[in-house]
Order: sequence, then structure tokens, then C-alpha cells
Amino acid sequence: MEDLKPKGMGSQYSSAQGASGLREIEERMKRIKDNLASLESALDLLRKDFKAAYFALKLPEPIATPLAREQSAVLFQEKFSHLLDVGESCVKYTAAVISALQYLDPGNLPRRSPLFGKPVPLGVWASIIQTSYVSLSKIDGRVASTVRESLFRPDGRPTPAAKYLSTEFVTLRNHERGHGSTYAAGVYESLHYRHVDTIHDSLDSLVFLRFPLVRVDRVNVAGELMRYDLVVLRGPSPVGGTATVESTLRVPLGETCLWDGENMLISLRGIVIYKVCVDCNMEHSFFLDQATEKETVYHSYSANHRLRQPPLPWGPSE
Ligand SMILES: [Zn+2]
Repeated sequence: MEDLKPKGMGSQYSSAQGASGLREIEERMKRIKDNLASLESALDLLRKDFKAAYFALKLPEPIATPLAREQSAVLFQEKFSHLLDVGESCVKYTAAVISALQYLDPGNLPRRSPLFGKPVPLGVWASIIQTSYVSLSKIDGRVASTVRESLFRPDGRPTPAAKYLSTEFVTLRNHERGHGSTYAAGVYESLHYRHVDTIHDSLDSLVFLRFPLVRVDRVNVAGELMRYDLVVLRGPSPVGGTATVESTLRVPLGETCLWDGENMLISLRGIVIYKVCVDCNMEHSFFLDQATEKETVYHSYSANHRLRQPPLPWGPSE
């Protein structure tokens, strides 16, 4: 720390020394002001970065990862591509949560899940959202009512976020991913700016996305109850977030579930999984892409990786 006291002060003090001392004080004050100004602008940048990062930190990993990529990409072509991934993962995640809730009341289930058979196109995921109002209304519990209120108004019409994600966004994505040509750089910039706020605002308005996505990492029998150690899959690199839940529910080890924050775990039934990836050896989430009687093929928005797993237990043979 610099000493602000002018040199030469004391018994030998003269007017010439005083003037140079004052100049020195002024110079030091100016340096301090400059330092403060640069600190302030650094803090502003941090605040902006923190706000963007915090937004991703609140979301479940399957959506937070492409969102973090979109926020950190430099080229607009990449930014826009990751933005499409954000919207796609949000449509699929929402449909997965709806399917999981519908499974709680098997009377509501379609005879054959639209997620079986061919690779599932985005339009099929979107149609699960569009047609879910009646079944969501019949399911009890805080998660089902929060999902319903995020997606539908009381009269059953879709909220702006549900309408955008399940119709306009699907059209945009199919159009932009459906042609093989590359645009000029400026086109990606305007495409990104045209859609980024609508997609981010849609994520923000889907309140059910705040329910933690978790993976069951340990199961202990605790008398009448089961005690589950959970890894909380929130944010783009979920490390260290854990929780313990005691519940009467029976949930298998390794299952990926939605947690209501109390003692309800809703299995996502293998539609979304969080596993070690054979391509990159890292753990990240995968969405079901094709479920057949022989195997289940998954796709991840983490660098487009794929994973093959045994067939799902709730397949057509059930
Ligand atoms: Zn991977």
C-alpha cells in the first residue's frame, strides 16, 4: 500500500516542497480514482457473467449444459446452434416429465407410448406437451400441478412458453436443421438475437424446471422407510450437490428422478438418464432417442454423444 503522506513534511518543510508534495498527492489520488474505475467496470462484468451463469445454475443439467455452451460460445453460428439445443432439450425434458407423471396414474397412459419404435422426432415430444392438459389435471401432487400451471392456463389454453416451445420453436428448429447449407456469419447473429430472449424467457417461466433433477446413488433400508442418497443434477457441471430423502417409495439404484424437495421421487423411467458416456468418459445426461424391444439408444447434447442401453422395462411387450 502506498504511503499518502507527502515526502519532506516536517521541520525542513518549505513552500517549494509543499507544492511538489501537493502535486504528488494529486497524482496519487488520480491513480486511486483510475484504479477504482477499473475495479468498478470489472465488477460490472462479473455481475453480468454471474447473472448469466446463475440462470444456468438453476436449471436441470440436460438444459443447463447446452445453455452454458450457448452463453460461452464466441461465434454466432455456434451460439445459435447451441440455442437450438437449449430449446430442443427443454421440449424433450418437459415431455419426459409429463410422461413420468402420467405413469403415476397408468389409467391415463396411451396404449402404446409414442416414444417407442422409430427415432423420436421433436414433433412427437412436442405433441406430448400439447395433449397433456387433461391427464395432468387428474394427477395429484405439487409437481403435477406446477407442471400443469407452467404449461396451461386454467381454461386449458397453453401458456405462451408452452405454445412457443411446442409449435413455433419446432418449426424454427426443423427449418434451421433441415437444410444443409451454411449462412453468412451475419445471418447467424441476427437469427440468434431474434430468438434468444424468447427461448430464455420461456425457460424462466417454466416454474417446474426448478424442481431438482436427481440420481439415486445409494439406497438404504431404514425400518419402514427407504433412505435415498441423491446427487442433485443442477447446472452445467453438477459436482458435489447431494441430498438425502426418506420415503416409502421404492426407487431403483441409479434411477434419474424429479424430486419435489420433500419425500416424493418421480422416476423419469429411462427417458432421461445421467450416466458415464462411452465417447468422453464423463458423466452427463442423455435423452431417449430410439426405444425398441432389443435396445434403447440415447442421445446427448453434450457434444452429440450417443449411448446404447438394454431395452426399457416399460416396452411394448408389457
Ligand atoms: Zn460424452
